[in-house]
Amino acid sequence: MTTQYPWSSERTDPRGKPIVGVDAGIKHLAVTSEGQYFENPKALRLYERKLKRLQRQFSRKVKGSCNWYKLKDKIAKLHYRITCIRKDAHHKATTAIVKGASRIGIESLNVAGMIKNHKLAKALADASLSTFLEMLKYKSDAMDVKIVEADRFYPSSKTCSACGVIDSDLSLSDRTYHCSACGHTQDRDLNAAINLRTVAEGHSETENACGDSVRPQQLGHESSNQADSTAIGEQLLLFSLS
Ligand SMILES: [Zn+2]
Repeated sequence: MTTQYPWSSERTDPRGKPIVGVDAGIKHLAVTSEGQYFENPKALRLYERKLKRLQRQFSRKVKGSCNWYKLKDKIAKLHYRITCIRKDAHHKATTAIVKGASRIGIESLNVAGMIKNHKLAKALADASLSTFLEMLKYKSDAMDVKIVEADRFYPSSKTCSACGVIDSDLSLSDRTYHCSACGHTQDRDLNAAINLRTVAEGHSETENACGDSVRPQQLGHESSNQADSTAIGEQLLLFSLS
């Protein structure tokens, strides 16, 4: 399910397709800088709740009993169904994104999941996020669309997409980004997606002589950027301890 918004960018490359930033997440499966929202299927949440209930029941059964085996089988089937629904949603979204882009900016594959889930600590969500990005990557490779991964410490959620100021106080529960410097207000994930587009746009300038990517250019504010990296480091530490 996608929605088009009036602020869709007109930025295109010579091939006529836009450069697109993609913020993959928990609340939405993905949000693009073009204003497309890819939602997780409703059935997914429904089945996940059902799975939790079955797992609770399962833990109370006597191991090896007839009912224990019955539930075990039910849980395995439900796991499979959830995986299929999720995979299908991932396929539909990644195909649509890759077909509509000339170049794609994403978060670093290594830390995307960890940073977003340090408090939620949902292993499932982590795995789902990285599979989504991996899928986006291999489809882009297949269709000759360049993928630009942001630096692992690039604060895509905390940076204002309008003026570049970094708000290090933004917490996971803040769904709307509000910039205290320029007053820009936008959906948190859309703001992040636009920042990732900026990373992809500036990629040619941030390639070194060997063609390796280097840290994307920050718009001033080196000190706050450093503070942000430290904050993420702390979050990773918390994540590894939990
Ligand atoms: Zn701003």
